[in-house]
Parts: sequence; C-alpha cells; structure tokens
Amino acid sequence: MLNWNDVLQFANKGNLAPDRRVVKTDAEWRAVLTPEQFRITRKKGTEPSFSGELCSRYDEGKYTCICCDTELFDSTIKYDSRSGWPSFTQPIKDNVISYVKDVSFGMTRIEVNCSICDAHLGHVFPDGPPPSGLRYCINSESLQLTADHKIAQ
Ligand SMILES: [Zn+2]
Repeated sequence: MLNWNDVLQFANKGNLAPDRRVVKTDAEWRAVLTPEQFRITRKKGTEPSFSGELCSRYDEGKYTCICCDTELFDSTIKYDSRSGWPSFTQPIKDNVISYVKDVSFGMTRIEVNCSICDAHLGHVFPDGPPPSGLRYCINSESLQLTADHKIAQ
C-alpha cells in the first residue's frame, strides 16, 4: 500500500514504469473526448467542486481513465471526502498513476496523472483516512465507471 512518503519519492525521484503507453496528438484526443474532458485531462483543468457526476456515486465497479480505458481506481476504495470531487485512498495498481510536483497557484501540490496516457486526473493529499492516509482527489470528468462504460459503447 502506498503512503505519503512513497508519493513524495515518486514526485521527487521518478515514477514507476507503466505496463504500456498510449500516445496521441491533441487533435486525436479532441476527436474522442468532450471539450470539458479534453480541457481537464489534456490541459490540466479542474472541474467545479460538486459538479462531477461521479462525485456522489458509489456503485460497484472499476474507475477507468476516460482517455485510455486503463483501470485506475476501484469503487471499494472510494470514499466521501466532502471535497466535492471523487476521492480514493489508493490506485488499483501502483504503476498506473504518475506523480508530478505542481507549484501553480502559489501552492506546492502533487499532481496525479494516468501513467499510461499522461491524462491529468487531479491531485493527491496527505489528509486521507487510514491506513494509507492518502486522498486522491480526482476530477469526475477524468474517469469512467466501467458499468457505465459498457452501456455507453
Ligand atoms: Zn489514461
């Protein structure tokens, strides 16, 4: 299980190698994403708090990257952080998330991205519940719940 020290190590010294990579141009991403999904995942945007559809949903399933379909989070580790964004305590696998130090807006935060396609997902904070103590604060627009996904295809 990852903890805050692991996260800082990844952000400072380099991330785990992903199992595969998906690389597309902005034009290719625009063709498969909504404008809001594109803005958030490819341009490091943030959705307004409490706006995301997945924020208040706790259905069983896997949360996949909206861009490359990689399984990132599981509904069993989703919790209500009352932040207004979907929140998780761990990724499904350690190497599906990459961590980058983000000093924008006068704050030092740890940005979390999909390590397969570099989609911006959100940030991780050290104020989550035990045992990991981590709060992955993720944009709803960056994720798809797999049950939804199958129906949408
Ligand atoms: Zn991805």
